[in-house]
Amino acid sequence: MAEADPLPGLDGARSEEAVPTLLAPWIPPGQTVGSLIGGTLVPGRGDEIELVDRSTGKPFLRYRDAGPEVAADAMTAAETGFREWTALSPSERGRRLWAVGAKVRAHAERLARLETLSAGKPIRDTRVEVAKVAEMMEYWAGWADKIHGDVIPVPTTHLNYTRREPYGPVVQITPWNVPIFTGGWQLAPALATGNAPVLKPSELTPLTSLVLGFLLVEAGIPANAVTILLGYGHTTGAAAISHKANRLVVFVGSPATGARIAEQAARNVIPCVLELGGKSANIVFEDADLRLASLGSQAAIFSAAGQSCVAGSRLLVHRPVYERMTALVAEGAGRIPVGDPRSEATQIGPIATARQFAQVDGMVQAGLSAGATALTGGGAPEGLSAPDGGFFFAPTVLSGVSPTMEIAQEEVFGPVLAALVFDDEDEAIALANDSRFGLAGAVWTRDPARAHRVAAQVEAGTFWINGYKTISTMSPFGGFKASGYGRSSGKEAIEAYTRTKSVWVETAANPATPFGYAPD
Ligand code: NAD
Repeated sequence: MAEADPLPGLDGARSEEAVPTLLAPWIPPGQTVGSLIGGTLVPGRGDEIELVDRSTGKPFLRYRDAGPEVAADAMTAAETGFREWTALSPSERGRRLWAVGAKVRAHAERLARLETLSAGKPIRDTRVEVAKVAEMMEYWAGWADKIHGDVIPVPTTHLNYTRREPYGPVVQITPWNVPIFTGGWQLAPALATGNAPVLKPSELTPLTSLVLGFLLVEAGIPANAVTILLGYGHTTGAAAISHKANRLVVFVGSPATGARIAEQAARNVIPCVLELGGKSANIVFEDADLRLASLGSQAAIFSAAGQSCVAGSRLLVHRPVYERMTALVAEGAGRIPVGDPRSEATQIGPIATARQFAQVDGMVQAGLSAGATALTGGGAPEGLSAPDGGFFFAPTVLSGVSPTMEIAQEEVFGPVLAALVFDDEDEAIALANDSRFGLAGAVWTRDPARAHRVAAQVEAGTFWINGYKTISTMSPFGGFKASGYGRSSGKEAIEAYTRTKSVWVETAANPATPFGYAPD
């Protein structure tokens, strides 16, 4: 399908008008939005859910929570889809996954604008995120026919080999902060390994995942093998997880929900991959290039308005450069364009919801009451205050934070940086590890030996040296400690999305028998 040009969705576009136009190739205006099951849209049967434009605070689309019955239908369809998908050769599965990449590229601008309007993310970010989804499909297409087991030299007369087999229907639950990117991140390896994923995106941002589902089917993935289930977590998501057809849960979201889901999965003895939150430490030594470290530290916390699991929300600075470094970051933060995500000039968009805004604001106020000082920000930027002007929060740098303050320990999920001081390398490492989380971290220094020492000692699943925030579907990503377990990217995702079967083949002409007598 060729793109109509020009598309709506940039400067001044009204979500209630532009969103239906952007969805039109798949969902004709007036048709109810629902779950994609077996290639058709199935309306929900639960409560009404309202999607709200984050830059205006106004609702623009309503749909219904799928509910347990629709979730059960989705799981049954996935059982059929699994048989259809695995009936194809792995090479054919790879070809079809590759074709999804081309579909995503063909509709990239439409998808980016839809994400910008419905998830409030700056258009400059959503364009990059959509392009990455195409890359994920292409990377995983390559893996589809390269997944195999081992031959094990057992000390008997047997040939013993292993098979890496897909689980079958797998439930994936994703959050609202990078919707299509996270959907692609999970769908691509699940399909490449032969599973039939049932993706439940956040009820707040389901639209781009839904369109991605349509593109997968258009590209030749069997319609039953990919399901996008729309609705709340505690109703629809929970019903899918506990359905008897489900074989695996992959959850990306908050630590509290992750723990609940792990409990629910444990009751049915279903394995889990959990990708949860963080409070990542960004460590700056006195010998660092402070200009680069300051720019990197701003990107680490302020991009995506801080609504990023890997956000570098704790800045740990060597005492000799503490004042200079925090001043550089604060000065830079004050210059980042905050505003309408539809504008190509905007680098920081709004916070996701009024509730999330209140949480960010509350944690900043608590930090100030506990003795921290705001070097910049601290609330809504002038002229962009909630609720009439959307849920914008100014990039904020809090200095003089001590390790026991809530702002140093808990995930804010907003553009708020907590700066702490350290005196030597040991103290920097101890501070970095003084967190229940272990998702990511970084060090800035010109001393390569120190950089590698610190990288080895910080407890985190991802670590950057003189950089921040680069991740790739080619590289394992996930948490240590309360940031979760399991990996759903890189080669390790093959382990997460497959299970091992050991097959024993007797090769002896006259095998020994268990009870010591020879067969007739
Ligand atoms: P959330 O936990 O509130 O929701 C995430 C998803 O879980 C949503 O789809 C929601 O509907 C669903 N859900 C909620 N309760 C459920 C239940 N009982 N059963 C099944 N599903 C349920 O998280 P959020 O507020 O949407 O996202 C923000 C959080 O996600 C932050 O903590 C952030 O750090 C984390 N996150 C982690 C990663 C990562 O890869 N580590 C990536 C992005 C976001």
